[in-house]
Amino acid sequence: MKCPNCQADFEYTWTIYFKNPLGRIKCPLCLRRFRLKSSAKYWSMLILSLIIFSGFPIIGMLALGVNDGVTWLTYIGLGILIVLPIDKLLDQRTRKTETMEMEDKEDRPSSAGDTETSVHEK
Ligand SMILES: [Zn+2]
Repeated sequence: MKCPNCQADFEYTWTIYFKNPLGRIKCPLCLRRFRLKSSAKYWSMLILSLIIFSGFPIIGMLALGVNDGVTWLTYIGLGILIVLPIDKLLDQRTRKTETMEMEDKEDRPSSAGDTETSVHEK
């Protein structure tokens, strides 16, 4: 994965994946955050894998008339476990990175306010 702030290439690990939900990633090199852009391709691939790995087993269980709660939870859990690596792969393959300059500015005290204060002091 390439950081749009410092242009460094780093590995998109499971630690980074779990520590940065909602596609907001903190670069391990420059420690600045950047965003993973969502795209139609990303969402369609993700929904497709959810349907394949969670939807079909659920439809199958409905067809077989499975009423066992534990079986249901096991299948849904397995579906999520399978979809997670796909989601991570999709993050790497289909999502572009973009800087979060707008939110960077919000973190800092506004420079306009500071100038105003210093003018009054003088
Ligand atoms: Zn960086």
